[in-house]
Amino acid sequence: MNATQIDRGRIESLVRRAIAGGLGTSPARPDSSPANNPPGWVDGKPNLRVSISARHVHLTDEHVEILFGAGSVLEPDKDLYQDGFYAAKQTVMIVGPRRRMLPSVRVLGPTRGASQVELAFTDSISLGIDAPVRHSGHIDGTPGCVLVGPVGSVQLEQGVIRAARHVHMNYFDAEHFGVSNGDMMQLKVTSHDCTTIFDDVLVRADEAAKLEVHIDTDEGNACFLDGASTVELTKGGCGCHK
Ligand SMILES: [Zn+2]
Repeated sequence: MNATQIDRGRIESLVRRAIAGGLGTSPARPDSSPANNPPGWVDGKPNLRVSISARHVHLTDEHVEILFGAGSVLEPDKDLYQDGFYAAKQTVMIVGPRRRMLPSVRVLGPTRGASQVELAFTDSISLGIDAPVRHSGHIDGTPGCVLVGPVGSVQLEQGVIRAARHVHMNYFDAEHFGVSNGDMMQLKVTSHDCTTIFDDVLVRADEAAKLEVHIDTDEGNACFLDGASTVELTKGGCGCHK
C-alpha cells in the first residue's frame, strides 16, 4: 500500500463519518469500517439504554431436555436488545426450601455451560434463599434450588444469585468513556422525587455488545426507572474498591 492509497482510505473514512453525522463531535477513530458505526451507536455517538433485567433462568442443553422433554430446545419468543440473546417461550418453576416457590420464571437463551438463576433481592426473600450478589457466571459456592418444568425437574446444587449491576458495551463505547472491561462506573437516574445514583456498575466490554445497563427489578423500582427523565453513565464510582 502506498501513501496515496492510505490518504484515500482516510478520506473515505472521514466522508463516511460526516455522512453519519459524527464528524467533529466524536473522538478520532481507527479507519476500519465498523469504527464508523459501532454496534448500538446513533448519530455517531453511544446511545445509553438502561434496562431492568427481571428474574430469569439460564439453562444447559441437558437441563432443557430434562425439564421440557428429550429433544427439546429453547424456542425464541422475544429478542433482547443485545444481538443473539432472547427470551424463550419456556418458563420454569423455581422451588426453594420449605416448598416456597416462584412459578413461571422466564428462561433466557441461548443455552449455557452451567445453569443459573438470577433473582432480585425481593425474589430471594420470598423464596427463602440467601442469594449472594455475583457477576454472571461466577456461581461457585452459591446456593441451589429445584427447577420444575412440564416434563421433569432438576436439582441445582448451586447457581442462585442476585446479578451484580453491570453495563454491556463494545470496545468503542469503552474507549469513549475511557474505561476497560472489569472497571466500575456510576449510573445516575434522574427521576421526579427520587433521583438515584448507583455505584459499582461493572463494565462488561466485548466486540459486539450494545451500550446497555442491566439492573434488577428492585433497583429499577427504587429509582423509578420508568419515570426517569435522564440517565447518565460516568467513569468513577465510590472509589472504595480501588
Ligand atoms: Zn446483562
